[in-house]
Amino acid sequence: MGKIIGIDLGTTNSLVAIVESGIPLVLADGQGRRLTPSVVRVSAAGETVVGWEAKRGRVAHPETTVTSIKRFIGRRGDEVDSTAAASVYTIRSEGRGPVAVPLHGRDWSPEELSAEILKALRTIAAEGMIDRPEAAVITVPAYFNDAQRNATRNAGELAGLRVERIINEPTAAALAYGLGSLKEKSKVAVYDFGGGTFDLSILELNEGVFQVLATCGNTRLGGDDIDHVVIEHLAEQISQGGGPSAATEPAIWARVAEAAEEAKARLSTENEVAISLPFLASEFSFEYTLTREQLESLAKPIVVRTREYCLKALADAGLASGDLDQVILVGGQTRMPLVREFASEVFGCGDSGPKLNTSQNPDDAIAIGAAIQAGILSGDYSGMLLLDVTPLSLGIETFGGLMNVIIPRNTTIPVKRGEVFTTVADYQKEVLIHVLQGEREKATDNWSLGRFTLGFEPQPKGVAKVGVQFEIDADGILNVLARDIKTGNEKVVEMASAVEVDDAEVQQMIEESVEHAFDDIEERRWIEAKLRAEQTKAATRKGLQSFGGELADDQRGAIEAALAVVESLLAKLGRDEAVTAAEFKEANGTLDEATQPLAELMMDRVMAEMLKKRGVLPG
Ligand code: AMP
Repeated sequence: MGKIIGIDLGTTNSLVAIVESGIPLVLADGQGRRLTPSVVRVSAAGETVVGWEAKRGRVAHPETTVTSIKRFIGRRGDEVDSTAAASVYTIRSEGRGPVAVPLHGRDWSPEELSAEILKALRTIAAEGMIDRPEAAVITVPAYFNDAQRNATRNAGELAGLRVERIINEPTAAALAYGLGSLKEKSKVAVYDFGGGTFDLSILELNEGVFQVLATCGNTRLGGDDIDHVVIEHLAEQISQGGGPSAATEPAIWARVAEAAEEAKARLSTENEVAISLPFLASEFSFEYTLTREQLESLAKPIVVRTREYCLKALADAGLASGDLDQVILVGGQTRMPLVREFASEVFGCGDSGPKLNTSQNPDDAIAIGAAIQAGILSGDYSGMLLLDVTPLSLGIETFGGLMNVIIPRNTTIPVKRGEVFTTVADYQKEVLIHVLQGEREKATDNWSLGRFTLGFEPQPKGVAKVGVQFEIDADGILNVLARDIKTGNEKVVEMASAVEVDDAEVQQMIEESVEHAFDDIEERRWIEAKLRAEQTKAATRKGLQSFGGELADDQRGAIEAALAVVESLLAKLGRDEAVTAAEFKEANGTLDEATQPLAELMMDRVMAEMLKKRGVLPG
């Protein structure tokens, strides 16, 4: 049987790891290199060059060398900022269509380009192990939505790998760190600052099971952003020194970018570095010394942006930093001393606070975790299970335009939850299932993930029953099932594009839900009270028509009076006059009380009818 390999498909670098004889190992290429740059170049003949060679060739072929493609995978044209990759290749992004990268006359999808990276990793694995690599566990940032997860899965399959699992990067990292270093019951924060993404997850390890208590992050915040400010700083120095403009000359930009990234990495261990770019233009060479202090002042505004995600995740998990046992650092950017100091400060690490754990190689941890998960699936590694959580609530739109939550935010996945709904109109032939994601009370304030209709046998309102079930699989992909309970007719729709789930937007959604909490609840109360008024009005009119004659005069009079109040409130609404939720509530309550004898009478009649049908009572 072929082996399952673990892959960290990173924005900047990727790695492949396996479990061999129960031990997780990162595999190196023929030259002993464990990192493979996530860089792809397409030649004029349409051939691809991947990894180190492509990265080296970036200077000579800036426009056909694709970096940071992960920022575009599974994204729609209107969701991407084509300058976000800090690169010079062209991104074609139109409206709601998929993103494409035109290279030598052919449009490449981000999946295809990612598949090239995965193929290179598969080759490294094939050369470094005994069994053939056939399947893979691939990691993605915690905030990747369905579309991004699916696209990553497709990339794996295009690379000839069966994708067994897509798992969250911080969860994988925690698995790697979890080896032996944690107590039986611990809580840890995973601070993952990579090339293109930042994730903060709070995890709990309990009797061999990791549970993600909360996750928060930004898929557009990473070491690349620090590179960007350093590149801009260097470009400014170059033009001040009378040199060429890096911004308008791709080949120059690429050389400066390479120098900037190298200087940044070296400044993690050195106090200053000499940057030398000879013959940047025909008559211009650039020499410059960048100090750690300068780098830190350039990088600080980017690093401090991670604070809000740390605090939010803690709040979501209902924890204070003192409740944590450890803070784990993951991702190449956490090698920077400033980042370590900052993480330590945010979580109050030290004597009384959690321990800052940097014991694992931050570049390897995610791949090692993916290999451990692969090992668990293949049976080569035992003892741990993995659980992730939903970043936002999921539900459907119900009558009155309200959001009905089916799976709340921060629910552990995989999960399956369902509810039964009824219809609002008599003899409806179909119902609309409008799937929503978000934390707001009104459907329109949440994000629409998709909609579909289910046809069913027409029945009176309230009688037709529609079962709706949400299932999120271990990869975080949502399937929605709707079923006509009577006939069993059903439809299952995969919500292939939870597209609007963007980290910053998730953040905004949560903030808005807190900000509008009181107004939202007030609005929900109002809508529910109004709907109830409409429903009881109709039901009471019908009941009076059929059974009114059998009621005592005073009983009927009380119902008529209460009904008149409800009707007058609804009429006021019809004239666009304001009615409060409290007014509706009071009128509904009085009508409920008044209709008590009518309800009892109707119940008696219905029971008698049923028993008569069964032949218990004389006709
Ligand atoms: P990752 O996505 O985990 O591979 O992290 C890649 C990011 O880490 C890139 O932005 C690198 O420039 C950065 N990085 C790698 N090594 C270092 C280092 N020694 N010091 C600072 N940043 C680094």
